[in-house]
Amino acid sequence: MEAQTKIWLSSPHMGSNEQNYVDEAFKTNWVAPLGPNVDLFEESIENHIGDDVHVAALSTGTAAIHLALELLGVSHGDEVICQSFTFSASANPIMYLGATPVFVDSERDTWNISPELLEKAISDRISNGKKPKAIIAVHLYGMPYKITEVKEIALKYDIPIVEDSAEALGSTYNNANCGSFGDIGILSFNGNKIITTSGGGALVTKNLNFKNKAIFLATQARDDAPHYLHSHVGYNYRMSNVLAGIGRGQMEVLDDRVAARRSNFEFYKSRLAHFPEIEFLNEPSGFFSNRWLTCILTPSYEKRERIRYALLADEVESRPLWKPMHQQPVFKDYPNYSDGTSADLFDRGLCLPSGSNLTTEDLERIVGLISKELTK
Ligand SMILES: *Cc1c(COP(=O)(O)O)cnc(C)c1O
Repeated sequence: MEAQTKIWLSSPHMGSNEQNYVDEAFKTNWVAPLGPNVDLFEESIENHIGDDVHVAALSTGTAAIHLALELLGVSHGDEVICQSFTFSASANPIMYLGATPVFVDSERDTWNISPELLEKAISDRISNGKKPKAIIAVHLYGMPYKITEVKEIALKYDIPIVEDSAEALGSTYNNANCGSFGDIGILSFNGNKIITTSGGGALVTKNLNFKNKAIFLATQARDDAPHYLHSHVGYNYRMSNVLAGIGRGQMEVLDDRVAARRSNFEFYKSRLAHFPEIEFLNEPSGFFSNRWLTCILTPSYEKRERIRYALLADEVESRPLWKPMHQQPVFKDYPNYSDGTSADLFDRGLCLPSGSNLTTEDLERIVGLISKELTK
């Protein structure tokens, strides 16, 4: 039998102009972590998100979270609340700064940080004598978190929000774009995200001071002097002008990419609808997800694994949902406020191939394999 081609979970999908903008960087010798592609890429993100945001293009989304926490004054010994159900890059920068992560579980409607547990965590930490310095909330798999409820709690206790929008470029809540809701938002352009610069990230903020300070810190914190003068510890976190060329091209096709991923979701949902044991995450009213990854919930861990192995045997990549941070060996000893929700999602959930470049044939093949496993 002829070997089937591999289907990836989420692979890069170039449009038509990326290569031209990269060539432009070479032709003009702007092969540096600054230049016209960086400026124009930032401008295109600012125009897309709207709401008068300022954007600093950086080397990774992780770097953006690190700088966001530093800009919000997080330092050694502080506590930072972080959604437990996420990728480890949301939490790692807390450790870079010598601060303590406090993990909070998810609710069932969006799979993101539970407002109830968030408030419980905050009041508990305060009664222990330490008010958290920041809240990291995540729009996981592209689904916005409960923006209104989370913001209300943050305002009540006067704690700033870092909005981890790494998976949610193109998602909206009440018609406003993800990235614009936190005191500081962050984006990722890693190779598996909805659009990519191969590796890259951005910090998003309405506060121009934050943008300028982020760029200052991201470029080795050089003071204004003819020689190299430093009064702060800096980082080398700026985005390359070559990679920003890819980003400019990708921003031109972002809307198409969102449409394609949403149509993957609709395909899976309609074709698996007659299996009552398979659940999908639906959009609550006012929520619009870019459907970065389509996720299903199966009845049990065993069922989830059987489907995953059946796909794997046919060269189809799928992946369990994120393993919550409070269950990770590296973070298990830090405080957490959990009610079993994310642990259950992790046990039963599976991310299906979701790239914007999947063909109908690919999708048919995947659905065929899953259906076969479910009717066994
Ligand atoms: C990808 C991702 C990040 C980190 O972005 P990088 O660009 O890979 O450093 C952070 N948070 C979440 C939720 C992510 O999915």
